[in-house]
Amino acid sequence: MKIFLKTEDEIELMRAANLMVGATLAEIRKAIKPGVTTRQLDKIAEEYIRDNGAVPTFKGFPNPCGGEAFPASICTSVNDEVVHGVPNDTPLREGDIVSVDCGILLNGYNGDSCYTFSVGENSEEVRQLLQTTKEALYRGIETALPGRRIGDIGYMVQQHCEAHGFGVVREFVGHGIGQQMHEDPPVPNYGRRGNGPQIKNGLCIAIEPMITMGSPKVYLTSDRWTVKTQDGKPAAHFEHTIAIHQGRVDILSSFEEIEE
Ligand code: MG
Ligand code: MG
Repeated sequence: MKIFLKTEDEIELMRAANLMVGATLAEIRKAIKPGVTTRQLDKIAEEYIRDNGAVPTFKGFPNPCGGEAFPASICTSVNDEVVHGVPNDTPLREGDIVSVDCGILLNGYNGDSCYTFSVGENSEEVRQLLQTTKEALYRGIETALPGRRIGDIGYMVQQHCEAHGFGVVREFVGHGIGQQMHEDPPVPNYGRRGNGPQIKNGLCIAIEPMITMGSPKVYLTSDRWTVKTQDGKPAAHFEHTIAIHQGRVDILSSFEEIEE
């Protein structure tokens, strides 16, 4: 494992990239309503990112499962799609949820963040799933202090979600981030306290709980990208990129504009 700790200057470059991801997700938020397609959302994202002088890192990303490169600038995962959903022409409907995962490269550094949006009104159960997943993300973030270990983060995320009866996906995890979108260390959403690499000043990671309403079992669909729940129940996904520096946790991405 090779963990690249970042300097203060690098962390500021990463903040700029991640704030642009937040701004892109906020643009998408404005367009989400019943009838809009995820392909339309993708177009908004790609134009916004390129107009601001950045590059959408997901577009053309090689397929680790032997399929085509990723064809779009965002991943849009609807209802029982967990991650890596491919934007398409199916209109969103009232009561759907859609996770929009966005990655950009700006001045050589990566931003990566995801938010699960409601399309119109959702059931109480779905609202609980979204709230619990977001809470779990922040529990994980608060835990990521210098001297703690990566397993402490996963422990907190898992404990919070399972206490609410939700499932924690095991096959996909968070990651180190910097000049590459995916760097060491892997950051699982499950784990044991005291396990894994030690958290140090300069560490930049993306924490991204992928949480299911039912069983955590998932499968890869025939497009070789989209991952769905086996039981067909919905899943939520929230992600922040954070830096640990000066003895504290600094959230580099932002949901502020999204939630305005
Ligand atoms: Mg992401
Ligand atoms: Mg990520």
